[in-house]
Amino acid sequence: MDLDLSPEQLAFRADVRRFIDERLPAAVRERLRQGHLPGREETIAWQRALAERGWAAPHWPKEYGGAELGQVERLILLDELQRAPAPVPQVFNINMLGPVLLEFGTPAQRDFFLPRLARLDLWFCQGFSEPGAGSDLAALRTTAQRRGDVYVVNGQKTWTSMAHHADWMFALVRTSSEGRKQEGISFLLIDLKSPGITVRPIWSIDGSRHLNEVFLDNVEVPVGNLVGEENKGWNCARFLLANERSGIANVGLCRQRLEMARELATQRRHAGRRLIDDAALRHELALLDAEVRALEVTNQRFLLTASEQARLPAFASVLKLKGTELQQQLNTLIATLAGPLGLERAASHETATDWLVPRYFFSRATSIYGGSSEIQKEILARALLG
Ligand SMILES: Cc1cc2nc3c(=O)[nH]c(=O)nc-3n(C[C@H](O)[C@H](O)[C@H](O)COP(=O)(O)OP(=O)(O)OC[C@H]3O[C@@H](n4cnc5c(N)ncnc54)[C@H](O)[C@@H]3O)c2cc1C
Repeated sequence: MDLDLSPEQLAFRADVRRFIDERLPAAVRERLRQGHLPGREETIAWQRALAERGWAAPHWPKEYGGAELGQVERLILLDELQRAPAPVPQVFNINMLGPVLLEFGTPAQRDFFLPRLARLDLWFCQGFSEPGAGSDLAALRTTAQRRGDVYVVNGQKTWTSMAHHADWMFALVRTSSEGRKQEGISFLLIDLKSPGITVRPIWSIDGSRHLNEVFLDNVEVPVGNLVGEENKGWNCARFLLANERSGIANVGLCRQRLEMARELATQRRHAGRRLIDDAALRHELALLDAEVRALEVTNQRFLLTASEQARLPAFASVLKLKGTELQQQLNTLIATLAGPLGLERAASHETATDWLVPRYFFSRATSIYGGSSEIQKEILARALLG
């Protein structure tokens, strides 16, 4: 990233790099570099280390455990974490629920939850999607009926990332079937230890468990866990989804994957020649480098012109679309360069490359979650056609 950084911002970047070098365990860094996702305990330990500096929730107010960083510093921090690579602050807590509570939560909700979200004392997952309600999220059917001081929740959520690691879930539920379908939705915070909740794994094509189904059977949720007004949860959801999309360009991650591809191309040989000596491959790497650079600049424009962007919601869709396409292209190239060795994935025989192909498989999901590519293109088409 080479914005015209001020001396203070350059010093901040050096500070972040130093912090990562000093505090991130080398084994975690190497595992992430090879394509593994960070485990629960690794993520918590690292987030607590970041929280000491306020960097676990960099843009939040200091009183809730944040650092009140400006957009440029936030971008520098994320970029450095992704490039290291280090675990990034847990997105459901930090980028999604935290901002929703700051905007719509009661003082009691903010005081209780925000510091715990920042330190990952409580791990939240996102219970939005349901069978039959993904792109058309407002079609959701999980109900919450008010009975005295509690809502009684019944229904099913699906594709719930990391629910098996989570303590709580923020969920969209139907509290009314009157009027437009967006109008009867509420935003609830649900303790996953409540009686009546069952979490079941969905195994994905990379052989891992990221995803779950969550069944809710007469689950009692205190009315104090309603965020915003009853039947106005769609406002929270829209606010949250805009935040979700803007974090999804993952420029630092693209850069890190590009470096990984270059490294593999330099190390690997075919018919006695290094792969990097092939002109067509060098051409492909150069094109991808230019694409990552373009994404970087677009991301900077997005973040640095925040007020203008607010009038142009389609900008976030450009980042989501382009960022995920690039991640997929890079992971495809890496899997190709890994060759047959990338397929060696016996649990008893972990090789340095054994996660490169599973990462490729999992990267197919990036153009689905957070709003599929087709939906982003629809948003863009509407913006372009006025
Ligand atoms: C890895 C992964 C993690 C996820 N994590 C979570 C999570 O933690 N919490 C959560 O709530 N959800 C999560 N999701 C769910 C995700 O948000 C949905 O998968 C996504 O919104 C798409 O919904 P769907 O799967 O129901 O597909 P559908 O909406 O049924 O879409 C099927 C296909 O039709 C296309 N399509 C749909 N509508 C239109 C349209 N109007 N115009 C053109 N094409 C259209 C889609 O692009 C897609 O190709 C996750 C998904 C994945 C893959």
